[in-house]
Amino acid sequence: MSPGTNQSAHRPHIVIVGGGFGGITAARQLRRQNVDITLIDRHTYNTFQPLLYQVATASLNPGDITWFLRALRTYQSNVQFLKGTVVSMDHDAKTVQLDNGAHVEYDQLVIAVGATTNFFGVPGAAEHAHPLYRRSQALAVRDQMFAHLEDAAINGMERELRIIVVGGGATGVETAGAFAEMRNIDMPTTYPELDPAHTHITLVEMLPHVLAPFHPNLREYARKSLIKRSVDLRLNTAVKEVRDDGVVVENEDGQEFLQAGLVVWASGITAGEMWRARMPDGSLAYSFLQSLIAIKPFYVTRWLGGCLILTGMFVMAGNMWISARNARREGVKPVPVPIPEPDPNQHPAPLPPTSSQGTPEPA
Ligand SMILES: Cc1cc2nc3c(=O)[nH]c(=O)nc-3n(C[C@H](O)[C@H](O)[C@H](O)COP(=O)(O)OP(=O)(O)OC[C@H]3O[C@@H](n4cnc5c(N)ncnc54)[C@H](O)[C@@H]3O)c2cc1C
Repeated sequence: MSPGTNQSAHRPHIVIVGGGFGGITAARQLRRQNVDITLIDRHTYNTFQPLLYQVATASLNPGDITWFLRALRTYQSNVQFLKGTVVSMDHDAKTVQLDNGAHVEYDQLVIAVGATTNFFGVPGAAEHAHPLYRRSQALAVRDQMFAHLEDAAINGMERELRIIVVGGGATGVETAGAFAEMRNIDMPTTYPELDPAHTHITLVEMLPHVLAPFHPNLREYARKSLIKRSVDLRLNTAVKEVRDDGVVVENEDGQEFLQAGLVVWASGITAGEMWRARMPDGSLAYSFLQSLIAIKPFYVTRWLGGCLILTGMFVMAGNMWISARNARREGVKPVPVPIPEPDPNQHPAPLPPTSSQGTPEPA
């Protein structure tokens, strides 16, 4: 029996594990169906992961990128929220077990738990490097950075701080760039007693370029932008070990130890251990398919469509916000776009359906 539930006996009970983009979209897509939904998450809030690096580098606050999951109920009465971490599942008994001792029965189960960090077995990485998947992890990075800066401000203004970001994908490039902007633009105001030249930002990437999946022109643009911001870019360089005081890197010249006060791990994702362990071949793809098969094809189609639309909207909004901020910082002026004259032969487009629902405010 689900704790705190009042599901009617005849309505199917759908349990959604994970209140990320996928889980929320699944719940929203089922709002007009004759079902009861329990959304389970280990946090009481949804996290907008694409902007975690802004929290880590102190240009946004945690509340700016999180959203209270129970607020879903404001607009949807067939969903309820349960806080807890799912620690095991019994598909024969159709129950999931939570770390707080609760057992939740389901008729249909949706697993939308997202991905987690892949340390690729690099010694010391899990212990000493900071991943960026959760609000708490972003705050840990931010706290450690400020602890170093405050220490330098009190105990030694000549003290060196090196921040190393591992991985030249989108997250690593964004994070290294944001640290560099914090040092170049914000520090002269907020830490006037420190010389920004004593704070070093290093980005380590084992490939010969950053942003591997992107067009070569964009990779080159990103490379130049990082160098322009005085990021120490180490391409063709692999991290061999992470220690509590730095990382051992290797390139064609051999191995080198880079002292660091803060290491951010932005390199690779994998499925969470518990979910992988439950899949016969250990693959994430199988896990994803199995969770889809668990719900009716009608729901699957709408859910997937919704996921794509919602994810696209979130990412577009986030990227537009970042671009606008960067443009403001670089003094780029908006270019006016001419509005075409209306065509008198064309019928006016129908008005979008009105809704009293609106968009919930972030918590
Ligand atoms: C730093 C960063 C930057 C990114 N930038 C971009 C970008 O610019 N553009 C883009 O398209 N994508 C970006 N992404 C990827 C995007 O954020 C993810 O693809 C998206 O969040 C995946 O959504 P999801 O619902 O599958 O998982 P998630 O958003 O990870 O949600 C999973 C949820 O499951 C919960 N959960 C996990 N395990 C359990 C458990 N055992 N019990 C209960 N709850 C659990 C978690 O608390 C979480 O709320 C970025 C990701 C990161 C980390």
